[in-house]
Order: sequence, then structure tokens, then C-alpha cells
Amino acid sequence: WEDLFLPTPLKLENRLRAQKIEARLSKLMLCGSTLRRVGEVFEKEIEAGLRQQPSSLQMENTYVPELPDGTEEGSFLALDLGGTNFRVLFLELKAGQLLREKVKHYHINDALRLGPGEDLFNFLADCVQDFLVSQSIEKETFSLGFTFSFPMRQHSISSGELITWTKSFNCGGMDGVDVAALLQRCLSARSLDVTVRVLLNDTTGTLVAGAHIDRNVGIGVILGTGSNGCYMERASRVLHWERPHSAVHDVCIDIEWGAFGDNGCLDFLRTEFDDEVDAKSLLAASFTFEKYIGGKYLGDLLTFTLSALARDGLFPADPNFRKLQTSHVSLFEEESCAGEVSRTLSALREACNSDLLSTADALVAQYVAHVISNRAAQLVSVCISTLLKRMDRPYVAVAVDGSVFKHHPRIAKLMNKYIALLAPAHQFSLMIAEDGSGKGSALTAAIAARMATRGVA
Ligand code: BGC
Ligand code: MG
Repeated sequence: WEDLFLPTPLKLENRLRAQKIEARLSKLMLCGSTLRRVGEVFEKEIEAGLRQQPSSLQMENTYVPELPDGTEEGSFLALDLGGTNFRVLFLELKAGQLLREKVKHYHINDALRLGPGEDLFNFLADCVQDFLVSQSIEKETFSLGFTFSFPMRQHSISSGELITWTKSFNCGGMDGVDVAALLQRCLSARSLDVTVRVLLNDTTGTLVAGAHIDRNVGIGVILGTGSNGCYMERASRVLHWERPHSAVHDVCIDIEWGAFGDNGCLDFLRTEFDDEVDAKSLLAASFTFEKYIGGKYLGDLLTFTLSALARDGLFPADPNFRKLQTSHVSLFEEESCAGEVSRTLSALREACNSDLLSTADALVAQYVAHVISNRAAQLVSVCISTLLKRMDRPYVAVAVDGSVFKHHPRIAKLMNKYIALLAPAHQFSLMIAEDGSGKGSALTAAIAARMATRGVA
């Protein structure tokens, strides 16, 4: 059983070099019992978070109590902030089906991502205005779903404050500010007849979008720039409510597993390579679990691990070679699956500015990419398998979205394998739920409208 968790071994003609490299990376290889231990810690942190006791998991009540039932109707706007791109969307739903969709991408520059929050939100409102004008619908009335992919303290389905920035955002002046209200103010200042109806996380959007396709979806996961998950929890197990909820049976909980272990409970996993990724990140000492998994960090992890090998004379490059990207992790994995090295080699030669690298060196780089990918897949799998056990339903479909899940050539396969090993008694499937942040946001706005007419929210 334990051996099933090991990455594919490094095969080099120079056996001694291969052994030294494997030993050097051994802390990045997690055995089955370590993963079980991570799962047990995760379960404890979930319980503590739900009970409002100290925990590294936010376990935020999203106030999304029900999933699409196929009656969702209307035209909605959606904003998607927090990943690679900022997007404004127009979506038209009829009988729960998406009839029409228009999307526009906007670039958010560093000054906006790192400057005053007011500037960022004014920019978002400018983009909404630009989008509406470009569609000639600036005079119309809209409900808007705001997908804000950061940890929040939510007071209702349409209000909440940012807890901390993550990934590549760090705007000032946001303490205690309701992000939905701030967006509303900026929209109204532009005389737009747009009302912010729902404020949601991208995982919630993904779960809702997935549930629209398959009623068995009970978990939403993002494996993109960052990583996080949400799931349907029994309302009776949730302590934090600021709204009447006697009629609510289940509610979507945003776990915020990116911060898992920030209180030290997972220090047994951490390697020197992780320390370096964290130290050189925008927001050091926070969201350390996300830094093991997220696309924002896998390229750095590859870079720093290879440079450690270079410092030890196990990889022939100047340890300060140019940074590799997360796309290189995918590329190296793709070539290693196909038994090729040519593109790996040219990427390495470019990054290291050296023609000396050999096929064996390319195999080493592919091995490092595989070891860190394997660990990332194992860690999300621990989280998902723990949720499957906790939910204890006959079958749960997991809706997943995000650039790493979509572009990494073997992550889905690895996750299927590890979840099955870690939760052998539970039936599940992973389904790609594209554009949870857009479609899920519109569907959630429609659900909120339905609830409001029944007086539930
Ligand atoms: C955020 C989460 C989000 C995840 C994926 C994390 O950094 O804290 O709210 O769901 O990224 O976008
Ligand atoms: Mg996204």
C-alpha cells in the first residue's frame, strides 16, 4: 500500500547520481501513513473551524443553501476577480440553461493589484461600464454576481469582508470593508443600474455550476493560481449564522484550505524548498498549504528544488539560473509521460543559459517536476478524501476548475488514484466544471433571487 504513493523512480545510467538526487528530494515524497496523518489533522481543523474554535481553516458559511433546480431564469452580470484574468460576463439563463454568454477580459496591472483598494474597485466598475457600453446595454437593469476569490467573512449571501489577500494581490485600506458594498458604491457612482446580488468564492461558483450539470455534485475544488475547496455541510454542524436558518438543511462551506497548517499543525510536511518559495512570495508566512499546490507557486518550487540540486553538484547549472514557470512543470511532465526530452532540454538550456546540459539532466528536471506534481496531487487528494468520508453519501461528484487541473497532463489521473487509495469505501468522480466563476456566479444570483421571493434570504 505504502509503495503506491511513491513517484515514478528516477532512471539514470549513473545510479549513484540518481540515488543521491532521490535522497535529496525524499522529504518531498509523502508516504501513505503521512498522508493519513494529514487527513486526520485536516478533519480536526475542520471541526474546530466549524465550532469557531482556533483553527487554520476558515470554514466560512457562504449562505448558499441550495443548488440549481433547473428553474433559474434571467440575464445576469458576473465579475470574476482573483485568478489569472479579471473578467466581466453577461449571461442569459432560461430554465437553468445558459442561452447566451458574452465575456470580456481585462488586465489588472501591478499598481492596481498592490495599490489602494479603492483604486482597484473603481477600476472594476470602469470595466463593467466599458463592457456594458461595448454591448450597448448600459441603460439596462442588471443583478450582478461578484466572484471574489479570496477568503472572506460573510454576513449573508451578498455581503462580506476580505480577511486577507492571497496570490498576487495586496491592496491597502481594505480592513473591515464590505467588498460587495464597495463595489456597489463604485457602480452607482457611474450611474449604472446594476445591483450586486451575490458575493461568492470561486469554489462555490464551481460547486454550483457543477451541480447544475450533475445533481450528485457536493464538493467544489479550485486547482488554479491558488487552491481551495468547498462542500455541502449539514447546517446543524455550522455554528456561525447571522441569518435565520431554521429552514436550511445543508449549506455550502468555503474551507479556505490554502491556509491549512498556517498555525503550525502541518509543520511536519514542510521542506527547505517550501521555506524558500514562501520567503520569496508576496505574502510570506501565509497560505503555506496553497504554496504546495497552486499554479502561482509550482514553477518556483521547481526552480528552487533544481537550484538546490545545482548547489550540491547534482545538476550542472549556476544555482541562480532564470526562473522556470508552472507551465514548465506541465511541459516536463508531458514529455516525461511521452518518454521524450527535447523540449525539456531546450527550456532548461534557455533558463540556464548553457549548452552543456545533457539528456540525463533533462531527466533530472522531469523527475523534480514529477515529484512536486505528485505531492500536490496527494495533498488535494487528502482534502477531498477527508470530505468524502465526512459527507458519507453513496456517491459524490467533485466539480473541479482551475488552470492547473486543466493544463497539467497527469494531475487528474494522480488525484483519481490517490483519492481512491485514501477513501477506498467511497464512490466519487472528478468532473471538470468549466467557468464556475462565471456561470456559477449567474446561477447563484438566480438562486438568491428565487430564495428572496420565498423569503428565505
Ligand atoms: C483564496 C481562495 C480561492 C483560491 C482559488 C485562494 O488564494 O484564498 O478564496 O478560492 O485561492 O482561487
Ligand atoms: Mg478563476
